[in-house]
Amino acid sequence: MAHIDYPASYYAASANKAPARPRLQEAVETDVCIIGAGYTGLSTALSLLEQGYRVVVLEAAGVGFGASGRNGGQIVNSYSRDIDTIERTAGAHETALIGAMAFEGARIIRERIRQYDIDCDLKDGGIFAALSTKQMRHLEGQKALWERYGYQHLEMLDGQDIRSEVASDRYVGGMLDRQGGHIHPLNLALGEALAVEHLGGRIFEQSPAIKIERGQRPMVRTPEGQVSARFVVVAGNAYLGNLVPELAAKSMPCGTQVIATEPLAAEIASSLLPHDYCVEDCNYLLDYYRLSADRRLIYGGGVVYGARDPADVISIIRPKMLETFPQLREAKIEFAWTGNFLLTLSRLPQVGRLGDNIYYSQGCSGHGVTYTHLAGRIIAEAIKGQAERFDAFASLRHYPFPGGQRFGAAISALGALYYSLRDRLGF
Ligand SMILES: Cc1cc2nc3c(=O)[nH]c(=O)nc-3n(C[C@H](O)[C@H](O)[C@H](O)COP(=O)(O)OP(=O)(O)OC[C@H]3O[C@@H](n4cnc5c(N)ncnc54)[C@H](O)[C@@H]3O)c2cc1C
Repeated sequence: MAHIDYPASYYAASANKAPARPRLQEAVETDVCIIGAGYTGLSTALSLLEQGYRVVVLEAAGVGFGASGRNGGQIVNSYSRDIDTIERTAGAHETALIGAMAFEGARIIRERIRQYDIDCDLKDGGIFAALSTKQMRHLEGQKALWERYGYQHLEMLDGQDIRSEVASDRYVGGMLDRQGGHIHPLNLALGEALAVEHLGGRIFEQSPAIKIERGQRPMVRTPEGQVSARFVVVAGNAYLGNLVPELAAKSMPCGTQVIATEPLAAEIASSLLPHDYCVEDCNYLLDYYRLSADRRLIYGGGVVYGARDPADVISIIRPKMLETFPQLREAKIEFAWTGNFLLTLSRLPQVGRLGDNIYYSQGCSGHGVTYTHLAGRIIAEAIKGQAERFDAFASLRHYPFPGGQRFGAAISALGALYYSLRDRLGF
């Protein structure tokens, strides 16, 4: 079987040392078998191990190989679609529960970093940057909404304030979330994997689940081994392929691209982002950026529906970076990579059970660093028999993409083009 390496990203190049982990080459019995060692799988594993369950994690490549080891590193509160969408589409009880959970994922990340002493360059503070007065009004509405759900860490920034936080002329204002922030995403995943092993969990790498045999005691097969468990958790997200066909029909893998500059001189880095906050703009197809611990600008944006890898990431993302920061014209781009997130039609997570012993959570549609950490906790609660919070998410309705798998990517791209045109024209 071919060995799958990490893509050549800045994160892979600056990853903390990790132990060599075996392939699964035996028959194993456990309480819970988790498929996928991204944040969803690792967070579920940690929550279960903390409750005394025996856990085996199967990873097709290496820990954090997927979106969790390649993302923008931005800790963004709430969900890809905000609580007001949930208010419009879910029942009152479910909305209250999901609203109350909207800020828990970021707390879990900070708890884990502290509790397991994870070295992943955590920085506090994230800015939502508005490119138009319409987006500014949207942010004011978002602040009122989050405050209604008890969250009090937001601060509006006017045109002058944002200019003193972000050295760009693009923005009319913004909103600072003091409990947002950023991390080295792969090192967070690697640190969580070490914590899983410290608590007695077993992680097998280069061990793809190729079949789930459903039944009273499901069996997960890999090319060279098998795991028999009381419960299975499917956490393969955009990299799952067709392992569970029921899930594939209602979600679509999408690629997004990131570049990293060379390390910037200290005075240039601190002139761009003086408080080292991360930033994302309010466009439908948004740009997101932050400084790394060694003062590179890490800049992401762009979406490829259907997750084909673009030939030249730099030619797509560098112009976006220069539109925001023309002062970086001379900065060398040292890394460029792409990663897949999983889109659902509603842009809300797809959560549920297959039978009564296979659980899944996927499809956070672009903002998943915080939600996936929450997902791990609520899946573990459900396995333990306290499913109220899990069931609130499971109640969210999901629909197949119009046009099915074949035409869905083209139709979604057209939809995105429409929204990005509206953003560009300031509608
Ligand atoms: C480039 C990029 C930038 C992003 N930036 C941000 C951001 O700044 N902030 C934010 O909130 N969100 C961001 N996201 C989204 C966020 O990273 C994801 O929502 C989150 O990491 C998903 O975690 P996950 O564990 O569900 O999936 P993944 O991290 O993709 O993990 C799934 C894992 O399952 C494994 N797997 C799949 N199938 C199998 C199988 N059959 N057997 C065994 N293993 C399997 C894969 O190899 C993979 O390691 C970004 C995503 C991308 C791609």
